Amino acid sequence: MIDTRMIGDVRVTRIHEYSGPTHDPKFLLPDLSQELLESNREWMSPHHWIPLMNKLILTVQLWVVHAGSNIIVVDTGVGNRKPREGMARMHNLNSLVLEWLEAAGAPPDKVTHVALTHLHMDHVGWNTRWLDGRWTPTFPNARYYLPQDDFLFCESGRNKQEGLDVFGASFEDSVMPIVDAGMSVMLKPGMEIGDCLQVEDARGHSPGQVAFRIRSRGEEAIFSGDICHNPIQIVHPEINSGYCIWPDQARKTRMEFLASSADRETLVLPVHFGNPYAGFVRREGAGFRFEPLLW
Ligand SMILES: [Zn+2]
Repeated sequence: MIDTRMIGDVRVTRIHEYSGPTHDPKFLLPDLSQELLESNREWMSPHHWIPLMNKLILTVQLWVVHAGSNIIVVDTGVGNRKPREGMARMHNLNSLVLEWLEAAGAPPDKVTHVALTHLHMDHVGWNTRWLDGRWTPTFPNARYYLPQDDFLFCESGRNKQEGLDVFGASFEDSVMPIVDAGMSVMLKPGMEIGDCLQVEDARGHSPGQVAFRIRSRGEEAIFSGDICHNPIQIVHPEINSGYCIWPDQARKTRMEFLASSADRETLVLPVHFGNPYAGFVRREGAGFRFEPLLW
């Protein structure tokens, strides 16, 4: 349930919230035709697609970074006991994420930074937990870094106007309690978090999505949020998820990300891929292929 890898001097640990064959391909990736999916069966099955059910595997995971004395949590999953009516997989979870954080050397009170790629509900949930009758910051001694353009988008109510409310109730129960507690920092591309995460523009999936790059002793990794939901988007970068708010910008961000990840041999650390949950982008012909990570 947890995997660890060194990137130079920086330790990265994967924390598993859940994974399973939860998504109808047409729902998650409306641009993906059944024929195209079938033609990728050999490498997509069974870790990314279950042909017998015709369901895509979707994982929700968090990442922990140990760098010097800093302990950083990157994206915070769905969270426990969050009311998410209409979303059976996310509603009222009772998972062991806190126990696994402890096992990974990141007990909540020792976490120094929380870095969020974007503010969709499956990336902010563990920001808070239900304690003493209210949603309370899970990491009491951390600064929480919120992508500014996502925050402004939600704060102005535009997330509700544009018919794509992937932010959902989480803005009220998982983001605003952090802001109200004075624990938030607005995040913009070009910043650095905890002396080790470089913040890069990755908008398109959401208005303010960012990615976090680690560079240490000649090695590189990138926390890529939802630039890709499923590795088929590495082979077919034109395929957006149904949750990408700006389709053209999401494709442009994905293409630039794939080219740079391949050319720089960057380890890609996404949130939603199936087993082994991370990997490399390699050039193949005029395009790209996915190389799963051997932990
Ligand atoms: Zn997501």
